[in-house]
Amino acid sequence: MNIKLNCPVCGYQEIEANSCPNCDTDLSLIRMLQELPQAQTPVPQAKFTGWQLGIALFILIIGMSLGSIGSFIFLQPQLNTLTVSSPNPVALSPRNPKPPANIPITPNQPPKPTTYIVKSGDHLSAIAQKFCGKDTSWQVIVKSNPQLKGREDYINIGEVLKIPTCKEKV
Ligand SMILES: [Zn+2]
Repeated sequence: MNIKLNCPVCGYQEIEANSCPNCDTDLSLIRMLQELPQAQTPVPQAKFTGWQLGIALFILIIGMSLGSIGSFIFLQPQLNTLTVSSPNPVALSPRNPKPPANIPITPNQPPKPTTYIVKSGDHLSAIAQKFCGKDTSWQVIVKSNPQLKGREDYINIGEVLKIPTCKEKV
């Protein structure tokens, strides 16, 4: 009943089983391909043509390489673990997981101008309201610019003032 096959791997001939008795190559796919045209066209004995054998071999090779790639990927993490967990665990142990403390923690705010140059006609309450909103007291500016104390009404044009963070309590 079974068509006799030649093993495409080792050349073993007249195999009736689904695998090569010599090299264990799985021949069921080749057998399926070979038996397929017979089932459809019963009269002419379809010969196993070269390109069919080629396709079968191709699929076989793809299957085998996929298998080896799969086991390679599967083995890879194990290899890594083996390398990592070997003899010097002290260097890898997270004794000191904190980052260096001198990294400045910047609040997540849009950058603001930090200084303001006094122009003609400016006065402190106008500057305070310009940067910190309506109803802001001029004292906010004095608070961040202590040099202004006592001459709040006599700021100089061109004088550089520090802009307050606008969170100061006055
Ligand atoms: Zn074989």
